[in-house]
Amino acid sequence: MKGSRKGATPPLMQAWLESANADWTPSYPFDSPSVTNEVRGALLAEQRGLCVYCGKRLKLEKPGATFHIEHFRPQSKYEAHACDFQNLFLSCGLKDDEGMPSPTCGNHKQNWFEEECHVAPSYPDCTLRFRFSLTGHVLPTAVDDMAAERMITHLNLNHPELVKDREYVLMLLDEGSLTEDDFFADGKGESYAHIVFQHVGLLMP
Ligand SMILES: [Zn+2]
Repeated sequence: MKGSRKGATPPLMQAWLESANADWTPSYPFDSPSVTNEVRGALLAEQRGLCVYCGKRLKLEKPGATFHIEHFRPQSKYEAHACDFQNLFLSCGLKDDEGMPSPTCGNHKQNWFEEECHVAPSYPDCTLRFRFSLTGHVLPTAVDDMAAERMITHLNLNHPELVKDREYVLMLLDEGSLTEDDFFADGKGESYAHIVFQHVGLLMP
């Protein structure tokens, strides 16, 4: 799991939340395009451009549903967190790059959530709860970490495409074709940069 270096609620969203009154309560989706844009931008920066779960680079410039604002605690069960910035992240969306239903991340997790058995998406702690084999598979770092196991299952993080992508990236690193510096520039990571940095014993900025 990639996770996020979460910051404070951005200013436009904060003002929007504070404008609540007897006739209007903040709800999601936001009724303000400028708040939506600000939140998206803030989330992208916190996550260094990567999906909070699988760590694939998100393409916000690409129209369509390849990314979405993800409620870590689902809105259906946690209405009070629907507009809580600390509960908002960016993840792979409803569709993949080919326009097919996304088989992983937020779209696979749906409304699953277990308060007693989950890994909070906070970088780098959450990344360190997982290890990656040279075959590209992800496993809990500690064999008895049920929460990490549960996250892998519900986010489908061992989907064959992800496994193949990770195996390739780790191979390029180990054969010396690329280094971690090739995976981070201008405040953003390339796909799976968090795994690359972990593989060489470093943390992504
Ligand atoms: Zn993803």
